[in-house]
Amino acid sequence: MRAFFITKGGKMKEQKNKRKALIKDLLDDHKVTRRSFIKRASAVTGGALVLGGAFKPTLRALAQSKETTGAEVGEWKPATCQGCTSWCSKQVYVVDGRAVKIRGNPNSKVNGNAGCPRSHLALQQVYDPDRIKTPMKRTNPQKGRDQDPKFVPISWEEALDTIADKIMELRNNNETHKYMLMRGRYSYMRDVLYDRMTKIIGSPNNISHSAICAEAEKFGPYFTEGYWGYRQYDVRNARCITIWGADPLAANRQVSYYSSVWGDAIDRAHIAVVEPRLSATAAKADEWLPLKPGSDGALAVSLAHVLLTEGLWYKDFVGDFTDGTNRFVAGHIVDAEMFEEKHTHGLVTWWNLELKDKTPQWAAKITGLSAAQIRKHALEMGFAAPHTISWLGGGPCMQVRGAYAAMAVHALNGILGAVDNVGGTQKSNKEYTSKFPKPDDFMDEIAKKGKKHKKIDQRGRLEFPSLKKGKSGGGVVTNNAADGILNEDPNEIKVAIGYMNNFAFSCPQPERWERALAKIPFLAHITTNASEFSWFADILLPDTHHMFEKWGYVKAMGNGYRHVTLMQPIIEPVWDYKTDETEIPWLIAEKLAEKGFDNLLRHYKTYKDPETGKAPTNEKEFALYALKYATQNLWDPAKYKGGDKFNGWQDFLKAGVWNSKPYPHRKRWG
Ligand code: SF4
Repeated sequence: MRAFFITKGGKMKEQKNKRKALIKDLLDDHKVTRRSFIKRASAVTGGALVLGGAFKPTLRALAQSKETTGAEVGEWKPATCQGCTSWCSKQVYVVDGRAVKIRGNPNSKVNGNAGCPRSHLALQQVYDPDRIKTPMKRTNPQKGRDQDPKFVPISWEEALDTIADKIMELRNNNETHKYMLMRGRYSYMRDVLYDRMTKIIGSPNNISHSAICAEAEKFGPYFTEGYWGYRQYDVRNARCITIWGADPLAANRQVSYYSSVWGDAIDRAHIAVVEPRLSATAAKADEWLPLKPGSDGALAVSLAHVLLTEGLWYKDFVGDFTDGTNRFVAGHIVDAEMFEEKHTHGLVTWWNLELKDKTPQWAAKITGLSAAQIRKHALEMGFAAPHTISWLGGGPCMQVRGAYAAMAVHALNGILGAVDNVGGTQKSNKEYTSKFPKPDDFMDEIAKKGKKHKKIDQRGRLEFPSLKKGKSGGGVVTNNAADGILNEDPNEIKVAIGYMNNFAFSCPQPERWERALAKIPFLAHITTNASEFSWFADILLPDTHHMFEKWGYVKAMGNGYRHVTLMQPIIEPVWDYKTDETEIPWLIAEKLAEKGFDNLLRHYKTYKDPETGKAPTNEKEFALYALKYATQNLWDPAKYKGGDKFNGWQDFLKAGVWNSKPYPHRKRWG
């Protein structure tokens, strides 16, 4: 098997090396056409490009399975990893209620058996002796970096009662807009706490972490191909992969999947990483383009310049000059009438306004790369078209004016015909989960009035347009919420809850958050482990661990599929944790009802078990019924809409994951 792998890999490598030698020859030959290249490349490859998977060794040393012990001592149970937002579907080997080993869930068409090293660390997280094990309250009223909170353990009863009292104070004083919810790592059960609870209490202030994560990335595909979302990349069929400020072998997204196919990809494709830092992926690439931080946009437009002047745009997607003569000559205006576009719009305008002067020499001065390397890389991209990926990561976007860099980087996929194409970029496949019941009927006059206030992050103002899908004020300005709190602009925040977030550590200028959090009179933090954020809390609530202790689901995509993978309580909990997005809001709702405000509890009781029609009567039932409600279209044969088909809830639970249909390439062309 090994010998075969080497032979097969060696063949692909040999073909790739021949392509490289060809490009080297061409660097001095400006007159070569794409057609002549393909002709020569076909001679090299025999007219066919070799595809296929690699053989992987099986690691069995640690598995306490029947195979190795002769007797089944435990059980593989389905789970989900949230060690990063790849959100891989997993299986956990559980012995006597204890998790002992983790592997990829073979039922997932996104990540399959693959996993990354981090997933195994979940075992150390869940049994970490330093987890918060019981609710705690602050006894030092002073708040600050140098103030020991002097936390002491309290009961769940006391903790929840205190939180409900603080919310009732706001309701009784008609100042529910002074309530705030801060979200960090989430599952798709999020709206129970993040949206529904905030609205029914009566506040506009649900603030997510998204603006300090990867939101700006979405500008690239939105303002070029009309798609607001993250992409997946068909690396199995790509011949050239250009990765901009992403590190898929180490971090977001689909680390498990991409790591598992990278060996083959590097044999087949030219892989280049555009990144000031020598990342893990750059270390495993053919080429590293270590440009100056923030200069990605300049590099992208100069690559576009070369692709056009060399006649390497993908004509089946972009179109061509009416007489077949390339008029993209550096410094020269082109008559738009002479170019007939197919699936793109405005290429000639872009050339005339922007690209015509953006030579590699121009970009070299800005990026610090050599003009020769820029030109060579453009040829690598162009000769591989349309099986060539311009892979947009957070690096070019999380900069001042990063949205424009994101657009320039992603637009290369249009020039190269890689959009929605084999060996190119793909959007997410369709999935069929449902939203939770609407909160409107449970929002009383106080709530409606409170909700009308402006949000604490000041989104939509001239300084913070925060465009989402092109709409001003649609997105979040996470970090500016700290200034909003400090300046009481647009209002004061008196009661706040944060969950699985650490804004006092992960936001730029975190000292702003320290001051802001110290200013909030009452702050509760739901978390597995105490953090810098927790230091400022009045109440700490111990959270369940994502992989082993909670009901929930997340969605992810890769390998041309989308999966919806379940989180399930599959081990014996060591301490009395409760789940952030379901159990805790239910318990708060119960307390609020006891104190005379039952709207939230009545709303949550509408999340009925789709199998029995029963309303939940406690937090455990609520968490389970809410999950069954949201995923019913995936597991109920009567509601089947597509993808994997199950015989019912138990069948879905056992598999742990639902997969979409495969990606329909070129469906959006036209
Ligand atoms: S890549 Fe997958 S297995 Fe690794 S940490 Fe991220 S979600 Fe977990």
